[in-house]
Amino acid sequence: MTTLHISGFPHIGRKREFKHALDAYWSGTLSQQKLVQTAHAVREENWGIQIASGLDWLTVGDFSYYDQMLDLTCMLGAIPKRFDISPEKADLDAYFILARGAKNTPALALTKWFDTNYHYLVPEVSSKTTFSAYPTLLTEAIQAAKLHQLPVKATLIGPLTWLYLSHPDKNFDRLQLLPGLIETFKVLLKAFKEAGAGLIELYEPALGLDLDPNWIEQITPTYNSLCQSTPILLSTVFSSVNYLAPLLNHLKISGLHLDIVRGPEQLELFLNTYPKDKFLSLGVIDGRNVFKANLREVLQQVDVAHKKIGARLWLATSCSLLHCPIDIKEETRLDPTLKSWLAFSVQKLEELALLKKGLDQGIKSIEADLRQSDQIAQARQDNEFARNNTVRDRVQSIAVADLNRKSPFPQRKIQQQEKLKLPPLPTTTIGSFPQTADIRKARAAFRANHMEASEYHEFISHEIRMAIQHQNSLGLDVLVHGEAERSDMVEFFAEKLDGFLLTQNGWVQSYGSRCVKPPIIYGDVSRPKPMTVGWTHFAQSITTRPVKGMLTGPITLMGWSFVREDLSREAVLLQLALAVRDEVEDLESAGIGIIQIDEPAFREGLPLRKGMRETWLKQAVNAFRLASSGVSDATQIHTHMCYSEFSEILDAIKALDADVISIEASRSKMALLEDISNYPNDIGPGVYDIHSPRIPEQEEIATLIGRALEKIPADRLWINPDCGLKTRNWREVKIALENMVKAAQSERKKLAG
Ligand code: GLN
Ligand code: ZN
Repeated sequence: MTTLHISGFPHIGRKREFKHALDAYWSGTLSQQKLVQTAHAVREENWGIQIASGLDWLTVGDFSYYDQMLDLTCMLGAIPKRFDISPEKADLDAYFILARGAKNTPALALTKWFDTNYHYLVPEVSSKTTFSAYPTLLTEAIQAAKLHQLPVKATLIGPLTWLYLSHPDKNFDRLQLLPGLIETFKVLLKAFKEAGAGLIELYEPALGLDLDPNWIEQITPTYNSLCQSTPILLSTVFSSVNYLAPLLNHLKISGLHLDIVRGPEQLELFLNTYPKDKFLSLGVIDGRNVFKANLREVLQQVDVAHKKIGARLWLATSCSLLHCPIDIKEETRLDPTLKSWLAFSVQKLEELALLKKGLDQGIKSIEADLRQSDQIAQARQDNEFARNNTVRDRVQSIAVADLNRKSPFPQRKIQQQEKLKLPPLPTTTIGSFPQTADIRKARAAFRANHMEASEYHEFISHEIRMAIQHQNSLGLDVLVHGEAERSDMVEFFAEKLDGFLLTQNGWVQSYGSRCVKPPIIYGDVSRPKPMTVGWTHFAQSITTRPVKGMLTGPITLMGWSFVREDLSREAVLLQLALAVRDEVEDLESAGIGIIQIDEPAFREGLPLRKGMRETWLKQAVNAFRLASSGVSDATQIHTHMCYSEFSEILDAIKALDADVISIEASRSKMALLEDISNYPNDIGPGVYDIHSPRIPEQEEIATLIGRALEKIPADRLWINPDCGLKTRNWREVKIALENMVKAAQSERKKLAG
């Protein structure tokens, strides 16, 4: 019999009830008892779904009050000293302090989890870090799960990934902590076993990176030592671990999990070399996308494995379902055809169950389901609303000239300067102004048909008018319309582009209680009509200063969506780029002289394996260039990215050939300028940390500008905040921007002598 399991199920709740409970608890309107009740109810529901779907193991430990990395940090007693929380007293409120900070104590840093859109809390380690085991968090869950009939598998992040992702104190070698970490892990595992876990799954996405030899050599001693206490399933996810195959095959673990969706090439290698004394878990149903599997193809794949290893074959989703929405049944407004193409978490468990049945009871037993799956695959190929031949032809006929501006940057710069006549150290913002409660209320009312279109239109034009007025009186040089009409920088465009689908309930956790609802790219992407020209043109019509048009770029539109698999990602990216290009050209025709194409997802798209990076970067650069190169030399193209670690991708950033790039820099106090001091075009390193309610003084901003001027010539430096201002309020923004403009003006005076 084939065994079914998963590495994790989403824990925000079917209707985001746990997310809402968390928000309510933090705002003081829900008791801790109620919060815990909601948590337990969601956990029970998740187990119920697993049982009903015929899974063979109940997975425990995937449910988290905030983040699984933080759970492990607490269970290891590795709370940084700066919090002044002793691990034995770390109750739920202390846990939330680690996650969200407290007065004068910043939270643990949040960073993207591998190449996903999920953020984890970064452990902090130093020579002073010590470990001791606090297993209760998980033993409690194991005991609760034991009340059901299925055997219990406890899942947690593996020691190597935890340590690899931890942030070490200056010059501290994290690997020094490994022996102590392993000892504490052993104590934890023993406690989980005693509580009733029949198997421990250690989730190790870090093995899918190109680890350095000093890390690789730790894998065998670490795992062989841990296996002494309990049976272990080692789960690798997100990319191929072929480079580690001989080593992984010789570990004394009970089983190994491979992500066959991301690394199908692993199947052949492992099947040929896999030892006879272990089970092999194949992640064949995509845990990171929302389309139904082609069951016949997957069945063929797993049948090969089944013939070779028989009952030692386990089947699973490729990775934890954390990155997937919960249940397609919650979608009541989707077109029925499109809906029939999709599988969310619940449906993915059903797909696993069908595969098991096909293997164990013969292909005939699921013939009807296979036929249905074939039909859907066929329908996706043929469907007239997925295919747009005009777009396909356009992609085919993209020429090299389409990827290049007419002249090189120095010549463009002269023309832009003649047209825009900006002062030295020009000031601008990144696009959005505060999304006030009024704005959110109006948008919700309009969406629910409680507000007439004309009234909403009037409301937005008022907001834009106000934003322009404020910017004029602050004395900013390049204005923006403020993005009041946009809820989210991807959703806004997804609603207007053909080929995208929006769900009502397709939420996935981004971090803590924050969820996102990624749009789904199901068909060829095209732009039926201009998307931003109306409001941008309106904003420009009420001021004599230049207004910068704001667009989300192709890489980010793709990166923050679920993407069809029946077309190459490169082709999808080019379709998106063409749609953005059309918008750029229309903005230019409408008299907009500066256009910003935001690409905050540029860096996270970078493949985990180094060998795949060059190809991806080339595709990404080409897409940006295709989107931005249709304009005349005198039109100024900006781009924006929300982070500052550029060293790895600097060449690609240069190759974008944007006239101006704005990036985050204020938190690092301009340290990043070391890396990018030879950036050839204009650059605006942020001088105002918009992630914090703190308002920077004029002096402070002037100091940052002074520092930037040491690395960047004055005629290429722009002055702007780190990112958009939508999460701030107007009071903060007005004072901060006033300080920023004054600081720029006084630096300008100094430059003039
Ligand atoms: N233009 C967007 C804004 O200002 C950019 C946001 C982002 O980079 N994440 O909100
Ligand atoms: Zn940003």
